[in-house]
Amino acid sequence: MSDGYNRNREGILFQYVDKVLVMSRYDIIIVGGGISGLFSALILGKHGKKVLLLEEREFLGGNCNSYMVDGFQVDTGPHAVTGLVNGPTRRIIDEYLDYTPIFLDYGTYHLRTPDGLVNVPANITEFVGFDLIPRRDRLALSQAITKAITLSAFGIDTTSQSVHDFLPKNLSTHTLEFVNAVCHFLSGRDMKKTSVHRVLAGSNFMSEPLDDKKNGSKLTEHVTDRISKLSRLATNKVSESQGYPRGGLKTLLNAVLYSMPPNVEIQTNHKVKRITTLDGRAIGVETDEESFESSIVVHSGFAKELPEMVNELPAGYVSDLRRIDQTKSLTVWLGLKEEIPEFNYIGSEIWFREQPYWAMPISNYTPGLAPRGKQLIGFTFVMNEKRTLKTEKNKAMDTITRAIPRIEQFIEMEHCQTTIPEKAAVTIDGYIAENRTPIKNLYIVGTDADRRSMGITRAAYSTLHMIQEMKNDGNLKEERIV
Ligand SMILES: Cc1cc2nc3c(=O)[nH]c(=O)nc-3n(C[C@H](O)[C@H](O)[C@H](O)COP(=O)(O)OP(=O)(O)OC[C@H]3O[C@@H](n4cnc5c(N)ncnc54)[C@H](O)[C@@H]3O)c2cc1C
Repeated sequence: MSDGYNRNREGILFQYVDKVLVMSRYDIIIVGGGISGLFSALILGKHGKKVLLLEEREFLGGNCNSYMVDGFQVDTGPHAVTGLVNGPTRRIIDEYLDYTPIFLDYGTYHLRTPDGLVNVPANITEFVGFDLIPRRDRLALSQAITKAITLSAFGIDTTSQSVHDFLPKNLSTHTLEFVNAVCHFLSGRDMKKTSVHRVLAGSNFMSEPLDDKKNGSKLTEHVTDRISKLSRLATNKVSESQGYPRGGLKTLLNAVLYSMPPNVEIQTNHKVKRITTLDGRAIGVETDEESFESSIVVHSGFAKELPEMVNELPAGYVSDLRRIDQTKSLTVWLGLKEEIPEFNYIGSEIWFREQPYWAMPISNYTPGLAPRGKQLIGFTFVMNEKRTLKTEKNKAMDTITRAIPRIEQFIEMEHCQTTIPEKAAVTIDGYIAENRTPIKNLYIVGTDADRRSMGITRAAYSTLHMIQEMKNDGNLKEERIV
């Protein structure tokens, strides 16, 4: 081996520096301390690995955090944590957290109209009576949903079929605005870029397999599962599996940090610039000031940035990573000086005309997120990156005041966040990475390394799958030892 590196019989890297043997202090280095990096550190730590996690920012959590602004506790965007009955986050909570956050019933999804709120249709029966879009369009859309579920029940792949091409033609502009708003929130892009599968899975019309990334192992089980999901056409069982963490989003982060075993070391304000490799294997990472060695590296930052961080990546893989599509969002948090009847509900609302938003009055869940008697609402918009931030903020405020005209007189706090909610948007032609990379022992984890579900659930799916890959590679033993 070159560069003074050697490997002992167990595969652990060591180096002779001035004839003194230096063993690497860590088994695994994790780049990035968002929820997927932290879930990974937690699980690997509990399996007995010596882990170093490096986060470039001052705070951990990435998009999963909360902080104070003028007496209001805002989250990094409005959040509904999903899959709480039997999803991957539930599995991580049950198997690895020493302290379980309390999730409050999520409530109801609403549509905001100029005349007030209406419930989002949760099943076909409600959808047929949903008079915000013309009757003719409702019938056409119900038939399209039934057809899509039936196709997927029989294993027909709808992942590369766009919603735009699947829908009947001649729908009204109003209906198209509604469908586009739904697509934006499920994939980050409009209906031309959103797949039929994404809409079915994102709206819980179809479940996604917990263990098998490739959608079901045995065809019979697969079909039975999908057919049972047809029952969703008549009932709504979504709400019980969704929740908002009591005390705000940071409660989930705090529970993960509290459960972290002592063999996990975390350093913030450390941006990893390079992932070092030797003969096609990961051997460590470098920041501007320091280098750290380990025989396994997990990247939970942006997979898209790997070509700038790793030397030995094959050209085909680099061009795949360049196809990763991302959407930016703008969240406007408004602190109101009093609670107003327009937000007298638990859950969230969608405005779908011209510029869609998704909003949550989070202070209705749990006291303390707003000062007593006041109210806190987060409004998230998909950003148009061709426009300036200032233009986008002004446009967002115009939309909010058009949707809720009285709101202006109650605003005492305004705070904006620009974020990338998912590291890879699930579009029909975008790339989603695998957990394994062409570099041996370099893994990717997070929302750009799994296409199942969304957000925290997607990060959890990705983490569990990466752990399984490490076991398959002989890099991790089955049993948890801490
Ligand atoms: C407005 C908004 C609303 C959302 N709503 C929901 C919702 O309702 N439900 C839901 O489940 N999810 C929701 N999400 C998404 C969810 O928050 C994210 O999908 C999830 O938190 C992503 O976690 P992650 O760890 O994969 O990525 P990130 O949170 O992006 O974490 C990546 C971390 O890596 C660090 N990093 C990157 N590069 C480096 C480097 N080179 N060196 C060191 N550190 C590095 C970053 O600083 C960051 O901390 C929402 C997100 C937003 C923004």
